[in-house]
Amino acid sequence: MTAVPQISLNNGQSIPQLGFGVFQIEKADTVTAVTTALQTGYRHIDTAQGYGNEEEVGEAVAKSGLDRADVFVTSKLDNSAHLPDDARLAFDASLAAMGFDYLDLFLIHWPLPDRYDGDFVSTWKVLEELYREGRARSIGVSNFQPHHLRRLHEESEITPAVNQIEVHPYLTQDEVRAFCSEHGIAIEAWSPIGQGLELEDPVIGSIAQRAGKTPAQVILRWHIQRGDIIFPKSVTTARIKENFDIFGFELSDSDVAEISALNKNQRTGPDPDTFTGGV
Ligand code: NDP
Repeated sequence: MTAVPQISLNNGQSIPQLGFGVFQIEKADTVTAVTTALQTGYRHIDTAQGYGNEEEVGEAVAKSGLDRADVFVTSKLDNSAHLPDDARLAFDASLAAMGFDYLDLFLIHWPLPDRYDGDFVSTWKVLEELYREGRARSIGVSNFQPHHLRRLHEESEITPAVNQIEVHPYLTQDEVRAFCSEHGIAIEAWSPIGQGLELEDPVIGSIAQRAGKTPAQVILRWHIQRGDIIFPKSVTTARIKENFDIFGFELSDSDVAEISALNKNQRTGPDPDTFTGGV
């Protein structure tokens, strides 16, 4: 089976660079999709309290026959649970739903600058406690801009292990990536194929044709060669397998540069500076 590269986080923990995302997978489809992913060889699952399918992720891991230690599982704090007492309860509820006694990685899902007086630092301190208790083996953030990260740096003790942000060829996020690289924070690229946005792009198409690969494989490979952690989502068995088959070829430096030059700062999701959590 293909060996997925491991990325070493700033606390010494390792994370498989390729995982499987379960955003927008219906509860009823999640056990099947995650089971297919685990059978294909994925050993990293990315879920969130807000996705409503943590229980099914836990069920698929339990049924897989794999050791819990061999599957890296991430979840994220719901936007409604930023107040410290709520955050603790929400974390406990995640573990209970999944049937786990620890998470490999737990993230603050959104910084929510306009809610709770912008006090994501108090929320982060709860994650620091969970980390010290060993119940979250690594902790991190999602959708944090450099100014949010700078506040954490100044007002808390533990540097996030990762920042999970939207990244794909039309949104290369150079500024956030540079800040994170300087501070030892790994980048997790969400919506790695832009939910399909760039699959028809002619530049991607011609590189794919030359490489004998699909556009999705070329984009995923581009992320891998840039060093980011990715977890494409699919409920389609053939695509789950296709997205895993990205380690038997390499893009040239000029292919990588050509794809990066497609950037037009085009988001598919909300802007972290204005998103209020939808409630
Ligand atoms: P992706 O970029 O992974 O795209 C998923 C879409 O692309 C689905 O419609 C899927 O269709 C389709 N697709 C998947 N593989 C292929 C392929 N090989 N060829 C053609 N189409 C394909 O988007 P997501 O938004 O799902 O992002 C991935 C993960 O990132 C999420 O599942 C979640 O874990 C995380 N995420 C985190 C966010 C955050 O705020 N932290 C926000 C959004 C996502 P189908 O399923 O029908 O096959």
